[in-house]
Amino acid sequence: MEKRVVYADNAATTAVSDAALAAMQPYFQQEYGNASSIHDAGQTARRAIEAARKSIAKSIGAYHNEVFFTSGGTESDNWAIFGSLLDKNAKKGKHIVVSSIEHSAVHRTAEFLETMGYEATYLPVDIYGSVTPAQLEAALRDDTVLVSIMMANNEIGTILPIRELCEVAHARRIPFHTDAVQAVGHIPVDVHALGVDMLSLSAHKFHGPKGVGALYMKLGRVLPPVMIGGGQESNRRSGTENVPGIVGMATALEEATANMRANIRKVTAMRDRVIQAVLKIDGAELTGHPKDRLPGIASFVFHGLTSTAIVAELAREGICASSGAACSSGSTELTRALKEVPVRDNEKYGEKVPAALRISLNEYNTNADIDYILHKLPMVVAVLKTTQMGSNVISYGHGHILENPDLD
Ligand code: PLP
Repeated sequence: MEKRVVYADNAATTAVSDAALAAMQPYFQQEYGNASSIHDAGQTARRAIEAARKSIAKSIGAYHNEVFFTSGGTESDNWAIFGSLLDKNAKKGKHIVVSSIEHSAVHRTAEFLETMGYEATYLPVDIYGSVTPAQLEAALRDDTVLVSIMMANNEIGTILPIRELCEVAHARRIPFHTDAVQAVGHIPVDVHALGVDMLSLSAHKFHGPKGVGALYMKLGRVLPPVMIGGGQESNRRSGTENVPGIVGMATALEEATANMRANIRKVTAMRDRVIQAVLKIDGAELTGHPKDRLPGIASFVFHGLTSTAIVAELAREGICASSGAACSSGSTELTRALKEVPVRDNEKYGEKVPAALRISLNEYNTNADIDYILHKLPMVVAVLKTTQMGSNVISYGHGHILENPDLD
């Protein structure tokens, strides 16, 4: 089969769509005004921002004055958490609850808070990477001031039961934040139906540009700012607005929302082709929920191999995928999130850390991409097994393997 380049790392980031790029273009060199200025150039930028706010609000079922622009998912997550704790009007307490498989933007923030005198409970997940309402109920305390549980996991694709979890928190009058960075634009997200108080999203996961995102805050929930300065975003998030980014994000989300049904159908079919074929490989196991999973994420562990070796070999074949592993030269460890997901056949295979592989697809992928992946992957695994190079990470210095790359 002829060599090709297949991008299958869409959970890390996506290509900016043509429509988003075209919509952004005028705001770099023609309509470059500062949205806080009162002259025409400024007001043109202001109108573009407010139109984008309305559009994004509509896409997630919010009111326009519930959407605040940020620099991305990380900032939205940090704002939701720090803002909740700094809120003068909120219930006082020192305890927060997160799941054990949160993205670092939440997980490390919780760890940081522990160093500042807070207590954090990290809810363990089941073999599918999910948590139950009963588990959350049991973790809540009188001094719990925030629950933050992600809507869909970035490594294994599991979709968590946010509406039910939120109800449990609300029954105790505890605010609920969800990191929906991997969900928005890929599966239906309706903030009012979910009932959440805060929700984070990020443009670059759905064909918008990098470095822009939003935080949904339920009406009446006035979180104090963590970015303090010129008073933009109704005094809640200072900093000159990223007009092209905001416009591009809105356009990308409009497209994703309009095409969602068709995209889900197409991407799920490709994902399931990958899953079915990969599970025929000896030693391969699916990670994440078999049904409640993002349309685009196929994630596996392979017993007897190392992540770095698989990902590097696939890269050599032109396939951009990612491992579930945080690798530093010579050693391979499962990422924090994957460590938390009990691997079913560990007993059978012993304690040795399996290799993790995430193939993340979207509607830009084609069946020809999948044919190529399914042609190459079994060969890569077979070669690594026979040469036993899978356990020799150092010899796989392919390109730059980052020290401790967190999966995004
Ligand atoms: N949360 C999740 C679940 C993610 O996958 C990412 C991706 O990187 C982030 C947060 C951070 O978003 P951003 O890259 O926009 O800061």
